[in-house]
Amino acid sequence: MMKKIVVATTSKYKQEEIKSLLKDLDIEVMSMTSFKEYPKTIENGKTLQENAIKKAKEAAKFFNSWVIADDTGLEVDYLNGEPGVLTARYAGEHCNFADNIKKLLNALIDVPFEKRTARFRTVIAIASPTGQIYLSEGEIYGIINYLERGAYNFGYDPVFYVPEYNKTFAELTSDIKNTISHRAKALQKAKMILKQL
Ligand code: IMP
Repeated sequence: MMKKIVVATTSKYKQEEIKSLLKDLDIEVMSMTSFKEYPKTIENGKTLQENAIKKAKEAAKFFNSWVIADDTGLEVDYLNGEPGVLTARYAGEHCNFADNIKKLLNALIDVPFEKRTARFRTVIAIASPTGQIYLSEGEIYGIINYLERGAYNFGYDPVFYVPEYNKTFAELTSDIKNTISHRAKALQKAKMILKQL
């Protein structure tokens, strides 16, 4: 098994999530926030997989290390899978979470509840220093609610309704969300892969 892996993200939240999930493996999980000079990957892939691979490969080459990277998208059936790869910047290059939610609710105005189905999908890429790639994926199905609900606000959380819990992501505790989420499922599978490397 490899001894060290770099998490290719500047998000502290993601770093901690990945660190805590991998803590029982004998692997040192390093963040890249301490490497200020690291050039940010341009996420111009056409799919989540392309972007995850690009992030992992570029960082693996730069750090000459094993790297884990992810990319997530919200895929809304009524919008033919949009915003998908553009999820983070759905309402424009410098938009915030509120802008994105507003645009999404407007795009679904008058669309009945049963047609507002959607899923979050995360693709994780693990890259070796020599460029080998291993992939895992996780998803969760839900419905885009008419109104925002809940206090834990990240991304589209207040409008992503999970029928099994009768709650939006923003109403779930982080413990529950981090067990059922797209990212949690993809990470569990990535952990299985890491155990075999
Ligand atoms: P990223 O690839 O993890 O940065 O995710 C891209 C975008 O998807 C984020 O900017 C959020 O808008 C959205 N997103 C990802 N995961 C979640 C989540 O768990 N809840 C709500 N929105 C999310």
